[in-house]
Amino acid sequence: MFNIILFGPPGSGKGTQSEKLIEAYGLVHLSTGDILRSEIAKATPLGLEAKSLMDQGQLVPDAVVIGMIRSALDNNPQAKGFLFDGFPRTEAQSVALDALLQQKNTEIGVVLALEVSQDELVKRLLNRGLTSGRSDDTNEAIISNRIAEYQNKTTVVANYYRQFNKVVAIKGEGTVNDIFSALATEIDSRLAK
Ligand code: ADP
Repeated sequence: MFNIILFGPPGSGKGTQSEKLIEAYGLVHLSTGDILRSEIAKATPLGLEAKSLMDQGQLVPDAVVIGMIRSALDNNPQAKGFLFDGFPRTEAQSVALDALLQQKNTEIGVVLALEVSQDELVKRLLNRGLTSGRSDDTNEAIISNRIAEYQNKTTVVANYYRQFNKVVAIKGEGTVNDIFSALATEIDSRLAK
């Protein structure tokens, strides 16, 4: 099994690159944002709890997303590997993920960290808001909140994995295909080992 964390701020292109990576490497895509939005669409109790936080650009509680990931791992026993997108977002989520993977005798192979300037992030998110139907993409104050949550709570995730030498920074500006090639080069060099 080869498991990847695609890491980076909101708007850094995780969703776009995830689609290409799961296709190229046959991985199971686990996006906590997508799972939460599907819970909201189904109006489940979990979705209702998450919605107000997401609408404000705040993180949903660790226990909620960790539980979602635990079920997703259990529901995909045949997976060749997982691509984690938007998770983990806190140190507690990182520690929990490592423990869950260890129970399955596997681990994170690499953390690919997309780097994009703040101005470009805001521009991309507002632009996505024109068509995505995501209310958290239409308001600049909520977007700033999400970027602040990332800076305050999520940058620690990279530090956590840096202690295990698992983090590689990738420039997240340029064409979609160039960024994909840079990601693939890093993955291939690890798969070859
Ligand atoms: P983006 O990274 O583009 O902002 P996501 O789709 O990954 O969007 O997440 C949207 C929202 O869902 C976040 O702002 C947050 O409220 C919630 N969310 C998603 N993943 C997590 C997570 N791992 N922990 C806590 N909250 C999360």
